[in-house]
Amino acid sequence: MKPEMTCPTCGSHDIIKNGLNRRAKQSYKCKDCGRQFVEDPQWQPKDKNTLGLIDLLLLEKIPLAGISGATGVSESWLQDSVNTGYEWVPKVAQVTPKAQGKLKVQMDELWAFVDDKGNQQ
Ligand SMILES: [Zn+2]
Repeated sequence: MKPEMTCPTCGSHDIIKNGLNRRAKQSYKCKDCGRQFVEDPQWQPKDKNTLGLIDLLLLEKIPLAGISGATGVSESWLQDSVNTGYEWVPKVAQVTPKAQGKLKVQMDELWAFVDDKGNQQ
Protein backbone atom coordinates (compact mmCIF):
# COMPACT_ATOMS: atom_id res chain seq x y z
CA MET A 1 0.00 0.00 0.00
CA LYS A 2 1.31 3.45 -0.85
CA PRO A 3 1.04 6.10 1.85
CA GLU A 4 -1.79 8.59 1.51
CA MET A 5 -0.66 11.75 -0.29
CA THR A 6 -1.34 15.17 1.18
CA CYS A 7 -1.45 18.45 -0.76
CA PRO A 8 1.34 20.79 0.47
CA THR A 9 -0.84 23.84 -0.19
CA CYS A 10 -4.31 23.04 1.16
CA GLY A 11 -3.76 19.74 3.01
CA SER A 12 -6.31 17.87 0.90
CA HIS A 13 -5.97 14.11 0.42
CA ASP A 14 -7.80 14.25 -2.91
CA ILE A 15 -4.64 13.72 -4.97
CA ILE A 16 -4.30 12.26 -8.46
CA LYS A 17 -1.16 11.12 -10.32
CA ASN A 18 -0.02 13.70 -12.85
CA GLY A 19 2.68 11.97 -14.92
CA LEU A 20 6.45 12.26 -14.39
CA ASN A 21 8.35 15.51 -13.98
CA ARG A 22 11.63 16.41 -15.70
CA ARG A 23 13.67 14.34 -13.24
CA ALA A 24 11.40 11.32 -13.86
CA LYS A 25 9.88 11.59 -10.42
CA GLN A 26 6.22 10.79 -9.97
CA SER A 27 4.25 14.02 -10.04
CA TYR A 28 0.90 14.57 -8.34
CA LYS A 29 -1.91 17.08 -8.62
CA CYS A 30 -4.36 18.22 -5.95
CA LYS A 31 -7.97 18.02 -7.17
CA ASP A 32 -9.08 20.64 -4.64
CA CYS A 33 -6.70 23.55 -5.33
CA GLY A 34 -4.90 22.41 -8.52
CA ARG A 35 -1.44 22.46 -6.88
CA GLN A 36 1.08 20.22 -8.67
CA PHE A 37 3.88 18.70 -6.61
CA VAL A 38 6.26 15.75 -6.30
CA GLU A 39 6.31 13.38 -3.38
CA ASP A 40 8.70 14.62 -0.72
CA PRO A 41 9.47 12.35 2.24
CA GLN A 42 10.92 15.36 4.10
CA TRP A 43 7.67 17.24 3.94
CA GLN A 44 5.62 17.55 7.14
CA PRO A 45 2.00 18.63 7.17
CA LYS A 46 1.57 22.21 8.39
CA ASP A 47 -0.78 22.28 11.36
CA LYS A 48 -3.51 24.90 11.55
CA ASN A 49 -1.78 26.87 14.33
CA THR A 50 1.32 27.27 12.18
CA LEU A 51 -0.73 28.32 9.15
CA GLY A 52 -2.63 30.86 11.25
CA LEU A 53 0.61 32.25 12.67
CA ILE A 54 2.05 32.57 9.15
CA ASP A 55 -1.03 34.54 8.07
CA LEU A 56 -0.61 36.92 11.01
CA LEU A 57 3.10 37.42 10.34
CA LEU A 58 2.39 38.09 6.65
CA LEU A 59 -0.18 40.73 7.62
CA GLU A 60 2.47 42.38 9.81
CA LYS A 61 4.73 42.52 6.71
CA ILE A 62 7.42 40.38 8.35
CA PRO A 63 9.99 39.32 5.70
CA LEU A 64 9.56 35.75 4.44
CA ALA A 65 12.96 34.78 5.86
CA GLY A 66 11.83 35.92 9.31
CA ILE A 67 8.57 33.98 9.09
CA SER A 68 10.47 30.93 7.89
CA GLY A 69 12.78 31.11 10.90
CA ALA A 70 9.96 31.73 13.38
CA THR A 71 7.65 28.96 12.19
CA GLY A 72 10.07 26.34 10.85
CA VAL A 73 8.56 26.20 7.35
CA SER A 74 10.84 26.39 4.32
CA GLU A 75 11.15 29.70 2.49
CA SER A 76 10.32 28.02 -0.83
CA TRP A 77 7.08 26.65 0.63
CA LEU A 78 6.30 30.07 2.06
CA GLN A 79 6.91 31.78 -1.30
CA ASP A 80 4.65 29.25 -3.01
CA SER A 81 2.01 29.80 -0.39
CA VAL A 82 2.15 33.60 -0.76
CA ASN A 83 1.99 33.35 -4.56
CA THR A 84 -1.08 31.14 -4.29
CA GLY A 85 -2.63 33.63 -1.88
CA TYR A 86 -2.05 36.60 -4.17
CA GLU A 87 -3.78 34.79 -7.04
CA TRP A 88 -6.98 35.13 -5.04
CA VAL A 89 -6.67 38.88 -4.40
CA PRO A 90 -8.35 40.19 -7.62
CA LYS A 91 -11.22 37.69 -7.25
CA VAL A 92 -11.89 38.81 -3.68
CA ALA A 93 -11.72 42.50 -4.63
CA GLN A 94 -14.48 42.10 -7.25
CA VAL A 95 -16.92 40.86 -4.61
CA THR A 96 -17.45 44.37 -3.14
CA PRO A 97 -18.28 46.82 -5.98
CA LYS A 98 -20.26 49.35 -3.89
CA ALA A 99 -17.37 51.64 -2.88
CA GLN A 100 -18.47 54.52 -5.16
CA GLY A 101 -21.84 55.07 -3.46
CA LYS A 102 -20.26 55.20 -0.01
CA LEU A 103 -17.56 57.58 -1.23
CA LYS A 104 -20.18 60.13 -2.38
CA VAL A 105 -21.89 60.12 1.04
CA GLN A 106 -18.58 60.78 2.75
CA MET A 107 -17.90 63.74 0.42
CA ASP A 108 -21.28 65.33 1.32
CA GLU A 109 -20.48 65.06 5.03
CA LEU A 110 -17.07 66.57 4.46
CA TRP A 111 -18.62 69.61 2.68
CA ALA A 112 -21.15 70.10 5.49
CA PHE A 113 -18.30 70.07 7.99
CA VAL A 114 -16.36 72.70 6.03
CA ASP A 115 -19.44 74.97 5.88
CA ASP A 116 -19.95 74.81 9.66
CA LYS A 117 -16.37 75.78 10.30
CA GLY A 118 -16.78 78.75 7.98
CA ASN A 119 -19.89 80.05 9.80
CA GLN A 120 -18.16 79.98 13.19
CA GLN A 121 -15.50 82.43 12.13
ZN1 LIG B 1 -4.55 21.29 -2.56
